[in-house]
Amino acid sequence: MTVVAQRNSDRWSLASWFTEFSGPDYRDFRLAIERDLDTQSRQAAALTGDLQCLSQALTDYEDLTDRLGHLSAFLGCLSADDATNEAVKSDEAWVATLDAEQLKLKTRLQAVLTQITDTDFQDLLSKPLLAGAAHAIRRLREEGRHQMTTELESLAADLNVNGLHAWGRLYDTLSGKMAFPLQFPDGHTEIIPMARRRSLMSEPSRPLREAAFHAGQQPWHDHADTLAAGLNGIAGTRLCLYGRRGIPHFLTAPLFGGAMSRASLDAMLAAIHDTIELPRRALRTAARLQGTPALHFFDLEAPQVAAPHTKPLSWDEACTTVDRAFTAAYPKLGGYFRSLLEQHWIEAQPRAGKRPGAFCTGSRLRREERVFMTWHGTVHDMITLAHEAGHAWHSSVLRPARSFAADYPMPLAETASNFGEMILLDGLLSDPAITPEIKAHLLDQEMLRAHSYLINIPMRYEFEHAFYTERAAGEVSVSRLRELMTQAQFNLYGDTLLADGSDPLFWASKMHFFITGVSFYNFPYVFGYLLSQALFARFKAEGRAFLPHYEAFLAATGSDTCEEVVRQTLGADLASPAFWETSIRAIVPTLEAYEKLAPPQLG
Ligand SMILES: [Zn+2]
Repeated sequence: MTVVAQRNSDRWSLASWFTEFSGPDYRDFRLAIERDLDTQSRQAAALTGDLQCLSQALTDYEDLTDRLGHLSAFLGCLSADDATNEAVKSDEAWVATLDAEQLKLKTRLQAVLTQITDTDFQDLLSKPLLAGAAHAIRRLREEGRHQMTTELESLAADLNVNGLHAWGRLYDTLSGKMAFPLQFPDGHTEIIPMARRRSLMSEPSRPLREAAFHAGQQPWHDHADTLAAGLNGIAGTRLCLYGRRGIPHFLTAPLFGGAMSRASLDAMLAAIHDTIELPRRALRTAARLQGTPALHFFDLEAPQVAAPHTKPLSWDEACTTVDRAFTAAYPKLGGYFRSLLEQHWIEAQPRAGKRPGAFCTGSRLRREERVFMTWHGTVHDMITLAHEAGHAWHSSVLRPARSFAADYPMPLAETASNFGEMILLDGLLSDPAITPEIKAHLLDQEMLRAHSYLINIPMRYEFEHAFYTERAAGEVSVSRLRELMTQAQFNLYGDTLLADGSDPLFWASKMHFFITGVSFYNFPYVFGYLLSQALFARFKAEGRAFLPHYEAFLAATGSDTCEEVVRQTLGADLASPAFWETSIRAIVPTLEAYEKLAPPQLG
């Protein structure tokens, strides 16, 4: 048997960040950060409204943030690479304490920014040291206006470690240890860790999905009281802090985090409701292909057109395919993708001990990006590779910018990654070398994506909105959480869900509701998906002449609100439902092709 050497490395190198974990350069770097954070904190405590000192303090803070980010990214990469490394975990805990100190420093700087007059603030923005930083400094001031006193913010930061974030850790511990006995359709029984349930939900065998769904509900049911206490605790803490900070609405903070306006969010949601029959048509087709009158919750992530039973894709094949699709549509992106491989910036090797999932990270200090994933040989993995490469390309376009102008919000981040996915998918669907079987599978994957962004994630948003509204009046019981969840599901899914097909415990099993760093971890994804649809439609219409506009868009993402970035670089109005409707209607050609698919041959 001949072994063909792999051409493309699937191991990353972090050597340009630090020679090794805990090496001399690493230890010196740690010491310098501790020292400088301490110095900056003392200087900030003595800051007055002197504009020269203030501009220097802000610039020092920007530099410190880059260095802390460099360290966090390095440790994050090491611990994803080997989830069992306890020395790395211990340093991550140490960095978390530095992050808390840095947050206090930021709060102090924000307090000073709010104390100076508007005229002084304009003068401050015109200081040469802060050139290009206006948007970030305005945001610091804006956020600072809704803060308690420095002492109370400092107390809140400390208490959050033991309160708010403790609920999140409890969730991770509890859900991480969950397991359930599953009787497989062939009769044998296995104990299944909860983390495997999700992949069982995408199994082609419906009896297996059904069994895994019902057996996997039991642990969530058993722990429902504890999880409801957690959810109530997280939301209650946030609502209490919003009240103390004079923040008028529970959407204000997540919208501020996303640098987008309520008008844009409302326009996007209105368009989704007005066109809800489009993604529902995809679900009706999925039900027809599987031969049921409608879908159950356990059908929603399952392929209706299974990947052809050929051998798994090799890493080299995937790299070549992504490279070919990128290069054909967008040569600079193709070149960048090859440079990721050549410089060993992608980690994809399948091996034990790696953390599941995929992410893109990087160091502003080194102006370098890294991609983490695990290659299992599926088309889905290849789409993930294009998604993360889209993120990395976004960061690389922002390399020349100062860090205050390179911090883009999540809705715009997810636009760049979806754009990468779409270039790959579009390239594959129009590639004559791709078989009709794989194309049918890709259409199905595309419609799964449309369902996820246009029905499932909006459903999560509606649940969370209803929950926060009721939580403001007091604790919400388990039975009420189940009702709110079921209502949100039928509101969005309509008759595409079987009458007994809802998942009333989805509020417990979906980890996103328990993320303590950010609330409403849902609508930014919908935004990114739809804006990328709009960008891609223009790319198809205008061809390569559009790409400089795309890069101008990416380069502007850290310097203004979503509305302004889109208005200035693309000339579109995010507060107009018509804009979002056009983006949603971009799925119609794929939907129509999907509707023409015949049910798979039996036997
Ligand atoms: Zn992403």
